Amino acid sequence: MSTTIKPFLRLSGLEPLIVRPETNFVNVGERTNVTGSKKFARLILNNQYEEALSVARQQVENGAQILDVNMDDALLDGVKAMTTYINLLQSEPDIAKIPIMVDSSKFEIIEAGLKCIQGRCIVNSISMKEGEKKFIEQAYICKAFGAAVVVMAFDEQGQADTLERKVEISERAYTILTEQVGFDPQDIIFDINVFAIATGLEEHNNYGVDFIEATRIIKQRHPLVKISGGVSNLSFSFRGNEHVRETMHSVFLFHAIKAGMDMGIVNAGQLVVYDEIEPNLRDLCEDVILNRNNDNNEATEKLIAFAETVKAKGKVQEKDEKWRDNSVEERLKHALVNGITEYIETDTEEARQKYAKPLDVIEGPLMDGMNFVGDLFGAGKMFLPQVVKSARVMKKSVAVLTPYIEQEKEDRRLAHIAAGTINEEGAGAAKILLATVKGDVHDIGKNIVGVVLGCNGYDIIDLGVMVPTDKILDAAIKHNVDIIGLSGLITPSLDEMVHVAREMTRRGMKQPLLIGGATTSRMHTAVKIAPQYGNGVVHVLDASRSVTVAGSLLNNDTKPAFLGGITDEYVKLKYSFDNKKSVKSYLSYEKALKNKVNIDWASFQPVKPQFIGTKVFADFDLAELRQYIDWKPFFIAWEMHGNFPAILTDEIVGVEATKLYNDANALLDKIIAEKWLTAKGVIGFWEAGSEGDTVVVNREPLTVDREPTVTRLEFLRQQIQKAPGQPNISLADFIKPLKTSDNSRSNTYDLPLTTYDYLGAFAVTIDGIEPHIKAFEANLDDYNKIMLQALADRFAEAFAECLHLKTRKEYWGYATDEHLTNDELIHEKYLGIRPAPGYPACPDHTEKYKLFDMLKVTESIGITLTESLAMYPASSVCGWYFANPQSQYYGVGKIQPDQMEDYAKRKDMPLEEIERWLRQNMEG
Ligand code: SAH
Repeated sequence: MSTTIKPFLRLSGLEPLIVRPETNFVNVGERTNVTGSKKFARLILNNQYEEALSVARQQVENGAQILDVNMDDALLDGVKAMTTYINLLQSEPDIAKIPIMVDSSKFEIIEAGLKCIQGRCIVNSISMKEGEKKFIEQAYICKAFGAAVVVMAFDEQGQADTLERKVEISERAYTILTEQVGFDPQDIIFDINVFAIATGLEEHNNYGVDFIEATRIIKQRHPLVKISGGVSNLSFSFRGNEHVRETMHSVFLFHAIKAGMDMGIVNAGQLVVYDEIEPNLRDLCEDVILNRNNDNNEATEKLIAFAETVKAKGKVQEKDEKWRDNSVEERLKHALVNGITEYIETDTEEARQKYAKPLDVIEGPLMDGMNFVGDLFGAGKMFLPQVVKSARVMKKSVAVLTPYIEQEKEDRRLAHIAAGTINEEGAGAAKILLATVKGDVHDIGKNIVGVVLGCNGYDIIDLGVMVPTDKILDAAIKHNVDIIGLSGLITPSLDEMVHVAREMTRRGMKQPLLIGGATTSRMHTAVKIAPQYGNGVVHVLDASRSVTVAGSLLNNDTKPAFLGGITDEYVKLKYSFDNKKSVKSYLSYEKALKNKVNIDWASFQPVKPQFIGTKVFADFDLAELRQYIDWKPFFIAWEMHGNFPAILTDEIVGVEATKLYNDANALLDKIIAEKWLTAKGVIGFWEAGSEGDTVVVNREPLTVDREPTVTRLEFLRQQIQKAPGQPNISLADFIKPLKTSDNSRSNTYDLPLTTYDYLGAFAVTIDGIEPHIKAFEANLDDYNKIMLQALADRFAEAFAECLHLKTRKEYWGYATDEHLTNDELIHEKYLGIRPAPGYPACPDHTEKYKLFDMLKVTESIGITLTESLAMYPASSVCGWYFANPQSQYYGVGKIQPDQMEDYAKRKDMPLEEIERWLRQNMEG
C-alpha cells in the first residue's frame, strides 16, 4: 500500500510549489499581463520578447511564486503570442522554476499555453458564463492537461458581486467539478471577484466586505479549495497613485487572508508590510475596505483627500504607449489632445512625407486636432492648462513644417517671376495684435490669451509689455491686423487704455479693440473706454471667452449683431453708472476728518521694533518660501477657480487641477534645486506719528540734539456718508497722533520721544526669471513659460507673507507668540496689515516713490518703477506695515474736490497730476 498523498494543491515549474495549509499566501506575479501592464503590452506588441522576459524575471526576483501570463489584446494574435512567450520562458531556468498561470478570457489561448507549459500549471480561468455545458467541456480539457483551475464566480447572469452570489456560484461550480468532472477539491481555485471600491458610488462600498465574508463562508464549507482574486482591481479608482494603491492592497490582503484567502494576483514587488503602514493611512484604508464609518461616503472622501496629498508629491506613472501604433493622423491628434510633445517631431516629419504639401499637414490633421481641442475647451471638458499644453505641441509641429513651407513659398515666387505672373498673397489667418500697455509689466494673462487664440488658428502678433500707444497702433497698421487686444494689471493702465482708444479714433482705425487684465472690468470698459472709440470695444473676462469673442468679431455675418449687442449693453451699463453716482452722499473733508477711527491712544503702548532702519535679505531660501505659497491665486491664473486643496478633488476640474499642481511642484523642485531664481527683500521700521491724514516718519531715530529728517506719507480718507458709529478711515488713523488732541499739521514735536509710534515697510522681488523665460520661448514651450511666471508671482507673494510673519514675531515683535497655520496666514488671521500703495486703502501709486526711498529699494534689491509706477521685475510686492491691532483693509472710495485739493497741497503736486493718478477715486 502506498503512503497517502496529502490533499495539497501541488504545482510545479522546474521546481515544485506545494500549497500547504501553513502556506500563508501565494503571490501570483501580475506584470506579465498585457491588459494590466502597459509596458509589457508595448514590448509584446513591438515583438521585444527579450525585454518582455525581463519583466517575468523581475517578478520572480521580487518574490512572485506563480507567474500569470496574459496576452488578451485586440491587436495581438493571442494564440501566437502566448505560444511564443511561454516557449521562450521555458528555456529560462531562473524564470521557469516557478509555475505558470495561463490567463485568458479566450479558451483557445489557454489551450495554446497548456500545450507548451511544462510542469503543473493553473488555468485562469473557466466559468459558467456561457452555461454548464461549456464549463464542463473546458474543465475536462484542463484536467486532461493536468492543470489546476481558477473558476471565476461568473454565471449566465453575470459576475457575482454580492456575498450571496459569490457563495452560490462557487457552490454550484464546486459540485459540478467534483462530482461530474472529477476534480480534487484542492485543485479548484475560486476567484470570487475583487471589485473596485471607493468609486464614489454607494453600491460599491461593500465590495471589499463581500469578498472577505464570502471567502470565510466558502472556506468553512470546503476547506480544501483555494480562494484567489486580482487584488489591484480593488484600488482602481486611485489609478496613478501607487502609494495609496499598494497600501490598500496590503490592508485588504491582511483581512482577506485572515478570512482564508490563499492566493492573489499582485504586483509582487509592491506589497507593503501591513505593520509598516503609516497608521493614519492604514486606518483610512481599513475604513474604506471594511466599509466602516462610511455613511455618505465619508470614509471614501477622507481617503481621496489623503490620496491627493500623496499624489501631489508627484509619483511617476506608467505611461500608456498604445496610441503609438495608430495612424500618423491619429497620433498627431492624440499628441495634441493630450499635450504630448515627446514624439511630435518624428510624427510631423512622417506626416510631411505622407502629404503632398507641408501646409496640408497643418490644415489637415493638425487643425483637426486643434479643432477638437477647441471644442472640448468650449464645452468645458478641457481646461486652460491642457489647452496651453496642446498649443505647445502645435507650435513644435508647426516649427518642423515651417522651413518647408517657406521653401515652397520661395519656389512659387521664383516660378511666378519666371512666368511673369504676379504672386498673389493668400488670405491667410486673421491677425490679432496683443500688447500690455505703456507703464505696465504684467503679461501672464496676455500670454495665455495669445496661446489660446493662437491654437484657435489666429496669427498672434505679441508686442510684449510696456508698449506705448503709437507703437501699438503703428504695428496694427503695418501688419494690417484684424483685432487689437490690450492688457494691463495696475490701475494706471486703465487710463492708458482710454488713451489708446482715443488715439484709435483720432487715427481713424477700424479694428475692434479688446480689453483684458486684472484691473479691467466690464463697467470701466463701458463707462470709460467704449465711449472713446466707435468701432467696437469689448471687455474680455478671460482667455476662454477671447476665442468666442474673436470668432464673432471676425465673421462678417455675426459681427454687426455681436457688436450691436455689446454696444447696447455698455450703453445701459454707463447709464446706470451715471445715475447711480448721484445716489451716494459724501461728507465734506472737514467732517470726514472729524469722524476718524477712534483709538484709545492714552492707554496704547507702542511696541518698539528690534531695529530702526532697514534690513536686506539678499538671497532668501526659496525652499522656505515654498511653504508659504497661497495656491488659490495660482489656479486662478490658470482660470481654474476654486479653493485649495479642494480643487484637487473637484468633480469637474480635479484631475486636471492635480496634474497642473504636480507639474507646478515638479518645476518648483527644479527651480529650487538649480537655483533659477533669487528672492530679494528689504524691510524697515521707523518712528512715526500721525498728523491728520499724514504720517510723519523720522528717517533717523530722533535725538535731542538733531533736527529731525522726516518723510511725510500722505493717506486719503474715506468721504462717503457712513452709517452712524462707522468711521471715515484713513490709514493714518492707525498711527498714534503726534499731538494728543487735534488734527492740525504743526511741525513741532512736543511729545516725549518714548511715546512715538512706529511704521514699517517692505519690498520683495523674485529676480532671475528672464533667461529661463527665454529658454522656454526658444523651446516653443509656452506652458512652462507661463508656469514659471505664475510660480515667480507665487514666490513673491509667499515672500511677502513670510517676511510679514517674521516681522510680527521677531523683527518688530509685536506678536511674538503668534501661531498660525499657512491657511490662517492666507486668511489674514494675524494682527496688523501690510497695505500696498496703489491698492484700495492707499490708492495713490506715487507714494511708492517714498517707500522706495525709505527702503532704498532700487539700490538694495534692484526693483525699478515704470512711468506708471509698476514694479519691475513683474514678480514684486511692496507695502507698509501697520501693527495696530485695530488696523484693517478697506477702500478709500470716491474723493470729493475739497479733499483732492488739500491732498495735492500736502503732496506739493499740481492738482491735475494728482487727479490723473487718482482718477479712479474721483469717479468712483
Ligand atoms: N495670499 C495672496 C495675498 C495677496 S493679496 C497671494 O498670495 O496672492 C493680499 C494683499 O493685497 C495684502 O497683503 C495687501 O498687501 C494687499 N491688499 C489687499 N487689500 C488691500 C487694500 N484694501 N488696501 C491696500 N492693500 C490691500
